[in-house]
Amino acid sequence: MKNLFSQLPAIDSLLRDPALQSLIDDAGTAFATRQLRAMQQEARDCIQQHQRLPAWHANWPGEALRRSAQQSQSALRPVFNLTGTVLHTNLGRACLSDTAIAAVVASLRQPVTLEYALDDAARGHRDRAVAALLCELTGAEDACIVNNNAAAVLLMLATLAPGREVVVSRGELVEIGGAFRIPDVMRQAGCRLVEVGTTNRTHLKDYRAAITADSGLLMKVHTSNYQIQGFTHAVGEAELVTLGEEHQLPVITDLGSGSLIDMTAYGLPAEPMPQQLIAAGVSLVSFSGDKLLGGPQAGIIIGKKALIDQLQQHPLKRALRVDKMTLAALEATLQLYRHPEHLQDALPTLHQLTRPATDIRQQAERLLPALDKVFGDDFSLAIAACSSQIGSGSLPVERLPSFAITFSPRDGQSGTLNALAQRWRALPQPVIGRFSAGKLWLDLRCLDDETALMRNLLP
Ligand SMILES: *Cc1c(COP(=O)(O)O)cnc(C)c1O
Repeated sequence: MKNLFSQLPAIDSLLRDPALQSLIDDAGTAFATRQLRAMQQEARDCIQQHQRLPAWHANWPGEALRRSAQQSQSALRPVFNLTGTVLHTNLGRACLSDTAIAAVVASLRQPVTLEYALDDAARGHRDRAVAALLCELTGAEDACIVNNNAAAVLLMLATLAPGREVVVSRGELVEIGGAFRIPDVMRQAGCRLVEVGTTNRTHLKDYRAAITADSGLLMKVHTSNYQIQGFTHAVGEAELVTLGEEHQLPVITDLGSGSLIDMTAYGLPAEPMPQQLIAAGVSLVSFSGDKLLGGPQAGIIIGKKALIDQLQQHPLKRALRVDKMTLAALEATLQLYRHPEHLQDALPTLHQLTRPATDIRQQAERLLPALDKVFGDDFSLAIAACSSQIGSGSLPVERLPSFAITFSPRDGQSGTLNALAQRWRALPQPVIGRFSAGKLWLDLRCLDDETALMRNLLP
């Protein structure tokens, strides 16, 4: 064993090894030294426990380079999203338009007029440009931008009804993945939740009966990730606004996704539009920037000027506000909505959601032969109809007809399939598919650059 220890190379001599000079140049001596020390410790442990040298002992510089390359990979690696879920929360939701990306880059390179009005050189308001666009697009009086829609709901509640009662239908006590639950947000905001109606049916009289001197708000929550079907009744915003006016209570709506365009015009299932709720008289409407809007992560609140002013002045706004990158991306994204006829080309999310199934099938037919050549020995490949999902809780029930290339292991072993998925996750640009019915499915709906995918997948 002593003999084995004496075979370990000295750090000093390794640092002088020409094979490691590129690592030292790129990452610095301190990093290279730490890397080699960790390897030395690992080798000592290996000798202690197994009375042998580690397999990589034959090539210390090679192993050090391999480890360093692995460690300097970004934790935010670009992947091919072939899961079939377009707005995949774990993969970063919306992919932004080229103009939004350019706007972000420009905002980072130079100083920008973030809170600086050029006309009178006074301090401006950071949401003002985006607010003006939102007012133009939705008919709202003003807008406020925060970190995400969860923050938007928190800010609306904490500002408008601290210590007071907020009336919500029992059918709308939503939980969104990642611990956003209406009763919990209520508590955090210092409001008291008053549930009315039943799971499937809530009437105007239920809201009316719940109003007391302590009421602060009437709230609607869009049930974005589930649907209640059958014997149901919900109170529409317009009716609720009339009731609110009788009692001088604002009505607010957490819309979740919210689409500024009529989705049905693109052959997609209907989704409530913020501008419809503004027209119905709702005081404040909140929705996400990175769901159907196709922009950056943000929470957008639009509505009555007097209430938006209160949000802007609340101390929480400072904690929840967005940075210049988000504002730049959001402004550029919203500008695209001025030209609805170009939107399908300019906005990747809408492009992906509206790709015709025939288009996707043709793409699968183009890619199948080359893939079959490489994977055909171990897997049986086929083109199969499937359903993509919009994702992020949007329109959960409706599915989009799509096509996938499926891989079934010829040996019938799930281990073989798992090994394939694992190999794809280890690629320079990982390929993420979906398991179903003993097969690995690559839903091609979100595949833009098929050349890049093939370069990546084929040896
Ligand atoms: C998605 C969603 C949220 C949370 O929005 P984030 O932007 O993810 O914070 C809140 N409420 C509803 C109804 C939603 O659909």
